[in-house]
Amino acid sequence: ELYNKVLELKGNIKVFCRCRPLKPEEIPSGASAAIDFQSAKDGELTVISNGLPKKTFKFDAVFDPQADQADVFKDTAPFATSVLDGYNVCIFAYGQTGTGKTFTMEGTEEARGVNFRTLEELFCIIKQRQLLYKYDVSVSVLEVYNEQIRDLLVADSQPGAAAKRLEIRQVSEGLHHVPGLGEAHVNNMSEVWEVLQTGSNARAVGSTNANEHSSRSHCIHCVMVKGVNLLNGECTRSKLWLVDLAGSERVAKTEVQGERLKETQNINRSLSALGDVISALASKSPHIPFRNSKLTHLLQDSLGGDSKTLMFVQISPNENDLGETLSSLSFASRVR
Ligand code: ADP
Ligand code: MG
Repeated sequence: ELYNKVLELKGNIKVFCRCRPLKPEEIPSGASAAIDFQSAKDGELTVISNGLPKKTFKFDAVFDPQADQADVFKDTAPFATSVLDGYNVCIFAYGQTGTGKTFTMEGTEEARGVNFRTLEELFCIIKQRQLLYKYDVSVSVLEVYNEQIRDLLVADSQPGAAAKRLEIRQVSEGLHHVPGLGEAHVNNMSEVWEVLQTGSNARAVGSTNANEHSSRSHCIHCVMVKGVNLLNGECTRSKLWLVDLAGSERVAKTEVQGERLKETQNINRSLSALGDVISALASKSPHIPFRNSKLTHLLQDSLGGDSKTLMFVQISPNENDLGETLSSLSFASRVR
């Protein structure tokens, strides 16, 4: 049993790398592809610079620009089973703005992403297990912007008004809670879709440029699952966190001031806090610095222990993005 435990711990953090296709408007400008996917099936990719291989990275899976949402989900689906087995799971999308974080997590109506597909898989397994287990599923949708938590399910009474500030409270050892955060019970996929849409629409409220705002905040879905074993009455409680992170691109401090500078500092701080926490967990460090950002504090109960973590590192194939690509790949290698 101890041996199994060791194996389990070792496999608790997985990193998948996904590269978006070159956009039609990038092709005429002569942008060339800077990534070689020849050994993608072995989880490897090579960064090309000036036509020469520069650096090779290895991940748990590599998805080239041709991989579709279903291909990506095939490797993500086991995490849904883990949630119903009682494990906490965090799935993150990390990367420069425009590399497909929202495409991977949210997707589109025609090409639904990980959020929708994972919930669909949950309900599918719940149905298969209905003679043995009864499950109760609810969803919260929130945003962390400038180190403040905002509830995206409770519509602001006045658009543009200061959002209600939510705080994280420790209820007991290993149990954190956000008092006042809305939860929607969901019984089927059409209810899930409604909740996802409400959250997605609320994200844009009160911002002049919805895209820009969404790239500067972390968008978080929390799926709470309670299970009862109908044979022995045993209960499980688990959480699935689905996180579309703020853009990781470095903004030179000399280029921004005021509100924008504060935003940039908060993003840098929370992304490096996340990297620090995951790499501390991976190296079994005795001190895990959860308190350094709202994001890691919020997810504290679901990171570490026997929780499972999946990080999508999203990259661009464009040679002009090479600097950011290398920085994202290095971040991802650090947490693996
Ligand atoms: P991010 O959230 O990282 O800023 P987006 O998800 O908004 O990036 O993606 C930027 C654009 O690229 C969108 O138009 C999106 O539809 C497109 N895109 C991203 N990844 C893919 C992909 N794998 N296949 C097709 N289109 C993609
Ligand atoms: Mg986005």
